This record gives sequence, structure tokens and C-alpha cells, in this order.
Amino acid sequence: MPPKIEPHHKFSIWYVLLGIWFVFILNNMISNYTGPTRLAYSEFLDHLRSERVREIAISDQMIAGTYLDKEGKETKFTTVRVTPDLAKELEGHQVKFRGEVESAFLRNLLSWVIPIFLFVGIWYFMMKRMGPGAGVMQFGASRAKVYAEEAVPTRFEDVAGVDEAKGELEEVVNFLRTPERYSRLGGRLPKGVLLLGPPGTGKTLLARAVAGEAGVPFFSISGSEFVELFVGVGAARVRELFAQAKEKAPCIIFIDELDALGKARGMSVVGGHDEREQTLQQLLVEMDGFDPRVGVIIMAATNRPEILDPALLRAGRFDRQVLVDKPDLNGRLAILKVHAKRITLAEDVKLETLAQRTPGLSGADLENILNEGALLAARRDREEVTMADLEEAVDRIVGGLEKKNRVINEREKRIVAHHETGHALVAAFTPGTDKVHKISIIPRGIAALGYTEQRPTEDRYLMGRSELVARVDVLLGGRVAERLVFGEVSTGAANDLMRATDMVRAMHTQYGMGTTLGPVTYSRRTQPVFLPQDAAMLPPAQEFSEATAAALDQELKAFLDERQAHVEELLSRHRDKLDKVAARLLENEVIDGKEFAALVGLPAEEAAGGE
Ligand code: ADP
Ligand code: MG
Ligand code: ZN
Repeated sequence: MPPKIEPHHKFSIWYVLLGIWFVFILNNMISNYTGPTRLAYSEFLDHLRSERVREIAISDQMIAGTYLDKEGKETKFTTVRVTPDLAKELEGHQVKFRGEVESAFLRNLLSWVIPIFLFVGIWYFMMKRMGPGAGVMQFGASRAKVYAEEAVPTRFEDVAGVDEAKGELEEVVNFLRTPERYSRLGGRLPKGVLLLGPPGTGKTLLARAVAGEAGVPFFSISGSEFVELFVGVGAARVRELFAQAKEKAPCIIFIDELDALGKARGMSVVGGHDEREQTLQQLLVEMDGFDPRVGVIIMAATNRPEILDPALLRAGRFDRQVLVDKPDLNGRLAILKVHAKRITLAEDVKLETLAQRTPGLSGADLENILNEGALLAARRDREEVTMADLEEAVDRIVGGLEKKNRVINEREKRIVAHHETGHALVAAFTPGTDKVHKISIIPRGIAALGYTEQRPTEDRYLMGRSELVARVDVLLGGRVAERLVFGEVSTGAANDLMRATDMVRAMHTQYGMGTTLGPVTYSRRTQPVFLPQDAAMLPPAQEFSEATAAALDQELKAFLDERQAHVEELLSRHRDKLDKVAARLLENEVIDGKEFAALVGLPAEEAAGGE
């Protein structure tokens, strides 16, 4: 049985302040109550003697009554009683009068007792809201209402340019259509599918499309909605969500922005994350506590997988991860086509051109461009959206994004294409390197403008000197290619150079692979156990004399110079291939291992290892 999570009681200073404020306001109201005019006793006597007092009530200390003011209006008044034997005087003036007992009691009641009652009342109400048992259930339940969308209109055809992700999700759709067939065979389906990818790439859209394709109810909730003011509500909502989903199975539970909820515990700044942790805990409990064969699939989306609590990614939870990446050229064209259906386009519109002009943009950005174009056309009273409108929309949106560093211009794109090709060619023509799996110049985030993905053909535990040298060569390939083609090296190559230098330094100081320094370990760094490859490239702490350091620096420089010359020679020899592959990259933005092998004239299985 899953453990029940008790809601905490949160005592907040705010309730006390609220109470005090209430008393204050009430008191003010009572004392400000525009009651009778206060008269000085002498004034009262004046009025009395000029026969203007009509009627009074006399208590021990006060006199209250009515008099006619200057305009002859009856006015209420009070005054403090001064003369004890007033009665005699009153008789001469035809005033109706009566004695009265002091009403201080009523005043006190009004100004203190009622506020206290109110205060207690508010307190009680608040406690009930936060309280355990019935209290929280009522409140929690009212906020925990989750609605399932019964017939989601979204289909896979509405999501374009993410074919790999769609392929992986097809299985989920099949399962939801006929859960019996799967459960009969005893296969274990993923409980949780996590969609990962940059913002605006269609993760939310894909989740909806899965529900639409499968024709099942879609429960959706956003991670940030869970993070509520009152502790316990989020957890109650999670319970409610799963309870209702089980009733409606087969169905989908979709948690958008999972990162808001599933941040690694202990990562928040200052307190106040109780609630989030509890909600996360409840989610984990619910995910563990149900059998996927009932036909409930939990989907979630995030664009920050790196901050997720590792517990969420364990087997039996979100163990299936689907990458929803930024679209390539064809993907962008497909997305533009999907959204262009809703817009009246003029004859001259070429969506291909728009797709070419928008590398690095997400589906949401592309939709935005079409939208903006339509708005511009409307502003100009056009009947149709023309290419000029769309070009302007691209300028606006790409311009806006360029400021945010997300889009690269044509020249930069050419540099990146040659740089990445440089890496790939050195890898292809150096024995002992991992095979090129993919080359891409679709920018990812701010740091990487492109990347060359190499995949090892087998698991490796040891690396020989020649392999390390080969890796250094591959790292240098990017900048050498830039220099060959453009005559200079760009800042984008700095990271490669740093990694190459660190690697060479490690070879000389740690692995005893240098020539002049000989087989001596000059640094005694403990190696992180679970970090392969790059961990060994961190610069070691210095444990040697200045003279050795100088000798070492010289040797490192000589070594890198030599490698650079070698790579330069290699790339010059394959200059034609460098240009060919780069041109293809500029055209298509992505080249897979097979195509790369074909372009450079290597047998496919050799160059396209990995998969
Ligand atoms: P995410 O959840 O990944 O941030 P969304 O699914 O909310 O992105 O996408 C926002 C909008 O952008 C969608 O409603 C859709 O109109 C458009 N969009 C994004 N990606 C695609 C795509 N691959 N195909 C079609 N439209 C897309
Ligand atoms: Mg989203
Ligand atoms: Zn590089």
C-alpha cells in the first residue's frame, strides 16, 4: 500500500497580521462613526437657555439628546455632564428628559468582542483550509478537479518534422488502442514517456496527438500548476489525477513542464519547497503504485532534463525518453506546410525559401512567422499573404532571435559547416577513431553551433597512445579546416583547442606518454569513476618544478604544432571532400553516417558504424 502523506500545517504570520488589521479597522470604524455632535458643556447650556434643546437623556457622566441648530435643523448631540443638579435648570426650559445608565458596555462589546469573534472565525476558516482530514479533502478536492479532454482533435499529421519521435510514440498509440492485446502477451510497456527537447518544438502538441490518434481521454496538467500556495494541495491533486485516470482507462496523463515539479530535490534556493517535494513524492508513489496494464500511460514534457530529479528517470517511471529536436530543413518545410493551411497564401509564396532562411528555429517560431506575415498582410489590406509579407515576418522574427543569440547568419553558417566537416574528415581518415554518426549544423543552444557525432563501435576501457593522438587530431580538425578555407580561425574553435590541450597535457603528465619528460607521473589526480573520456582531460594540479613546467610547456607546444601540421596536410589532401561535404551540409544541415561515407567515398559500414 502506498504510504499516505500527511499535509503539514503551515502557521503563517500573515494570518495574525490579517487579524490585527481587522481589529484595527473595526475600531476605527466604530470611533469614526459619524454620530452625534460633541458639544462643550457651555455650548449645551447656551442652547438650553436659548430654548433650542428638545429632548435629552442623562446618564452619570453623559448627556445625549437633540437640539435645533442655527438653521433650525434637529441635530443629535452629546456632551459631558458637568453640573450635577441639572434637573432644576431643565425644568425651566420645556425639555423632555430622562435618566440613563452608562452604555459603556455596548461600546466595549462593539469594539472588542465582535472583532475577537471575527478573528477567531477567520482563524478557524484558515485552519480548515489547511487542516488535515476533512478540511483538506474539501479544499483539496475542489482544487484537485481534473478534467479529461474526451475527444482530442490533434493528430500526428498536425505535428511535422519530428518523424523519429512520432515513430517512437506510435507504439504507445497502438497500446492505448488495444491494451488487452498487449497485456495478454505479458509484455511490459513503459509507464512513463518523457518528451525532451528545446521549447516550442511541439512536445505538448505531440502528447495531444498521441491522445487524439488513440482516441483516449487526455488528462493534462502543468507542473507549475502543482506548486500551490497551500501545502498538501499538490499531492491531493496528484492523487485525484491518478484516481480519475484509472477510472477512465485507457487514457493518457500528461504532465507538462515536468521540471517545475520534478527539480532534483535539494536544488531549490531558500525554503518553501516542501510543497513541491511532497507533490513530487506523491507522483513517484502513484507511478510506482499502478499497473500499466490498466491502460494508463503517463507522458511528460520538459526542456530541462538535466535538472530533473534522477528518481523520476528510474526504471518503472519515466524510463522511455523521446527526443523532440529542432527541425531540419525538410522538417521546417513540413511544419510551414501544416500551418500554411490556415492562411490564404498568394501565388508567389515559396515555403521552401522560408525554410531555407530559418535554420535553428522551432516549430513554434515558424508558426509565429506565418502568423506575423498574415498580420502584416492584414495591416496592408491585402486579400492574400504575399511572399514579401512573409519575408518581412522572417526578418522580424529571425532578427529578434538573433539578438538572443539563437540564430546564426549565412557566413557563420558556412564557417560552422566547414568546421564540422573538418572534424568529420579527420575522423574518417584517421585509423582508430570512432566512426562519424552524424554531422549537424543546426544550432543547439548558445554554446554549440553545430556538432559532429562519433559513435564507438564497441565499449572501450583502455586507450592507447595512438588513439589519444587520433582524438587530438579530430579535435584540431575543426579549426584547421576553418583556417584552410577562410584563412583564419574563429572563436567557435576555442573549446576544441582547450580540450585538445588538456588531452595532450594529460598524456604527458599523467600517462607518461611524452618523449622528453619520460615515464613519470607529474600529477596524482584521483579520477572520477563514473565519468569516462573527458574527465581525464581536466588539467591536473601541478606537482613539479618551474624548470619541468617550462620543459613541459615546450613539449606540449611542439606536440600540438606537429599534430596541427599533420591535420593540415591531411585536410589539404582531401580539400575537395571538405568542400563537397560542407556544401551538402549547408544545403541539408544534417548528414548522417551513411551519406557521409558515400560523399567521402568510404565503404558505408566502415564510416557509418554505430547503428
Ligand atoms: P513545446 O511544448 O515543445 O514547447 P508546443 O507543442 O507547445 O511546444 O508548440 C507550440 C506551438 O508551435 C504548437 O501549438 C504548434 O502550433 C507549433 N509547433 C511546434 N512544433 C511543431 C511541429 N513539430 N509541427 C507543427 N507545429 C508545431
Ligand atoms: Mg509545451
Ligand atoms: Zn569543433
